[in-house]
Amino acid sequence: MKKHNFNAGPCVLPKQAIESTIEAIRDFDNTGIGILEISHRTPGWERIMAETEQLWRDLLNIPENYAVLFLGGGASTQFYSLAANFLNKKGAYLETGVWAKKAIKEAKLYGEVSVVASSADKNYSYVPKGYTIPADADYFHITTNNTIYGTEIKTDIDSPVNLIADMSSDIMSRPVDISKYAMIYGGAQKNVGPAGVTFVIIRKDFLDTVQRQLPSMVKYSTHIGDEPKNNSMFNTPPVLPIFVMHETLKWVKEMGGVGEMNKINQKKADLLYGEIDRNKMFVGTAAKEDRSIMNVCFVMAEEYKDKEAAFMDFAKKAGMVGIKGHRSVGGFRASIYNACPTESVEALVECMKEFEKQNA
Ligand SMILES: *Cc1c(COP(=O)(O)O)cnc(C)c1O
Repeated sequence: MKKHNFNAGPCVLPKQAIESTIEAIRDFDNTGIGILEISHRTPGWERIMAETEQLWRDLLNIPENYAVLFLGGGASTQFYSLAANFLNKKGAYLETGVWAKKAIKEAKLYGEVSVVASSADKNYSYVPKGYTIPADADYFHITTNNTIYGTEIKTDIDSPVNLIADMSSDIMSRPVDISKYAMIYGGAQKNVGPAGVTFVIIRKDFLDTVQRQLPSMVKYSTHIGDEPKNNSMFNTPPVLPIFVMHETLKWVKEMGGVGEMNKINQKKADLLYGEIDRNKMFVGTAAKEDRSIMNVCFVMAEEYKDKEAAFMDFAKKAGMVGIKGHRSVGGFRASIYNACPTESVEALVECMKEFEKQNA
């Protein structure tokens, strides 16, 4: 039976990216040797690195004065790296969920942290508004998409101080005005590739602004390098994840870029939220104006609470994979990232309609 993959991450990738990666593992660039078995200093690989960076620059319109890095360690490593690199006196944070809280915890190791607003009072089901960003903070940190709770900051906000964003789960889902950010980072495994590579976009004049000594690997400027440039190859980069990212971004480009992706994503989200709002057996958990177009969270309506396990079973039998909600929200979560086909969303909607017909 056809499976519809709604996993939250790692998650569905474009089929063509998987196919071309399989081929590259067998034979990379017609060398007769697989990509896992070559040096990262060969010209063929250096070309992939350069092309991957260029794809990022083209797709997101990244200005010249920003560096684009591909590192290891996941977004979780960035939680402390960014504080180590940029927190001199005070970091300001918007607390919109578990990932934001983890970033806050790490920053406290380096200095004062000011949580400007939190939505913890309602289990992070909304994005706080009307807060004031302290003008004396070194930076303001936001999580643009709250993967677990299904809320999203869908516009590029104005900040009086350097804006840093964890965009792990909505990067490449919409056009972004990079110039509004001092730094954007995230794990690749939601929208741009497999686990194992982390993207970091930094405005160069923001680098080396802290006083403290840092280990080479933690310091962003190490990975950029002076002439000759390191270009994310100070040490051995995560070769295979970067290759899959290269193939995934090629697919995004073929689809028409992030503007087109956004239109498709919006349609998919509208379809699913539309059904959640129409179907009397389900309710959405996120505040309507903050609903994420990447992670759609919903639970059984109060009077049908006892049907949760039955729906899970019903959906599973119809080929739905990965729709169990995160334990901190419960119910269901369908992650409908870029590579999740509209057809899968339609299948889930059909499944919800059929379940209602049989049970309500
Ligand atoms: C998944 C996720 C993370 C954690 O990423 P790792 O690469 O596993 O460290 C951080 N922030 C957000 C918003 C996420 O969705």
